[in-house]
Amino acid sequence: MLVVMKFGGSSVADLDKIRNVAERCIRKWKEGNRVVVVLSAMGKTTDRLLAQAGEISKMPSRREMDMLLATGEQVSVSLMAMTMIQMGVTAISLNAWQVPMYTNSTYQNAKLKRIDCERIRKELDSNKIVVVTGFQGVNKYDDITTLGRGGSDTTAVALAAALHADLCEIYTDVDGVYTADPRIVPNARKMPEVTYEEMLEFASLGAKVLHNRCVEMARRYNVKLVVKSSMCEAEGTVVKEKTKMEKMLISGVAGDKNIAKITVAGMKDDPESTFRLLNLLSSKGVNIDVMIQSLEKDGTKTLTFTVAKPDMIMIEELLKNEGEILGNVNIKCKEDVAKVSVVGAGVSSNPGVAAKMFEALSNAGINTNMVTTSEIRITAVIKEAELELAMRAVHDRFAAEWE
Ligand code: ADP
Ligand code: ASP
Ligand code: MG
Repeated sequence: MLVVMKFGGSSVADLDKIRNVAERCIRKWKEGNRVVVVLSAMGKTTDRLLAQAGEISKMPSRREMDMLLATGEQVSVSLMAMTMIQMGVTAISLNAWQVPMYTNSTYQNAKLKRIDCERIRKELDSNKIVVVTGFQGVNKYDDITTLGRGGSDTTAVALAAALHADLCEIYTDVDGVYTADPRIVPNARKMPEVTYEEMLEFASLGAKVLHNRCVEMARRYNVKLVVKSSMCEAEGTVVKEKTKMEKMLISGVAGDKNIAKITVAGMKDDPESTFRLLNLLSSKGVNIDVMIQSLEKDGTKTLTFTVAKPDMIMIEELLKNEGEILGNVNIKCKEDVAKVSVVGAGVSSNPGVAAKMFEALSNAGINTNMVTTSEIRITAVIKEAELELAMRAVHDRFAAEWE
């Protein structure tokens, strides 16, 4: 079997943990498998590098950020390969341009476009364990790019797809995907299986246990994906096309603090003004999420939408600088907001789901700000300080029905 094994930052946070991971990979290799290992940066390295850059500038050059952030993964793969060699196994580390793994040029949020497998195959053929940097790629200018926070999961799935691996295992600090973040909701339950579709919603709505693009890619290339713990041997969660599990009303609750709310007031009440605003944002690669539009008493239009928190300052500057395009508008940004969502295939077919979610929020005294729904989710924007309370309240409301 060819197996891709990915370990996140907390699983390789120090040399003892690196030894533990090395042993685990070596065991798999000794069982006769071909093993490709994908690693994140050690512990909180990426956060530390981001903070350091933040001391220099509020908006550092995105190219230079990638040059900086990619160093974290290079440290962990080299230490891992050294550890394996010390344990008597043939291993080699490779970074993105050595593979090579090509991306587009959207620094800090690059998309993988193509992976050449020749080098990895050659190393596997000579019986080595191949240890590859997660989270990074190289673009057409030979610059290093990164795939966005949590992107090592996507590297692992992309390699599994390109190499036609039999299995992609994502090892982390929890033993599977739960009905809500088990660190916030203590009585969350582990799901033995989850569909790609539900996992994609979960990940997009803030359950950072998997990077959302990795789930998208796993579905597209039909990669067999398992989430499990690097600390114990528990079974984990299988992410697949269809599950045998009985359909619950919802499959879980997700929370996301990494959002900011932007309000653009005083817009002309015509279709063109909305188009101009959205066009401006999309030309800068900004993803907007929950959006509402309201008409004011004075006949102007207000557009409110959420974006990823790190993009807020850039968007505020952009909208202020492009005042001419938008007319005489008033821009307000708010950072202390969060999203709480219920996810599950049962959402659209059960009219009671929204009522139950809002009953739980109301009982907890939590007011909602913006609401959006899709076939398989309901999302409410609330105060950031109330997110954990909201997740517990909503989870408990539905958990009562799982008993
Ligand atoms: P890694 O460093 O291994 O990539 P992450 O921190 O990115 O790990 O993801 C694992 C974390 O995801 C867990 O520690 C947990 O707090 C969080 N998490 C959020 N939602 C969920 C969920 N539904 N199930 C399991 N873990 C979750
Ligand atoms: N090291 C990167 C991060 O912290 C990538 C990852 O861990 O997946 O976001
Ligand atoms: Mg992660």
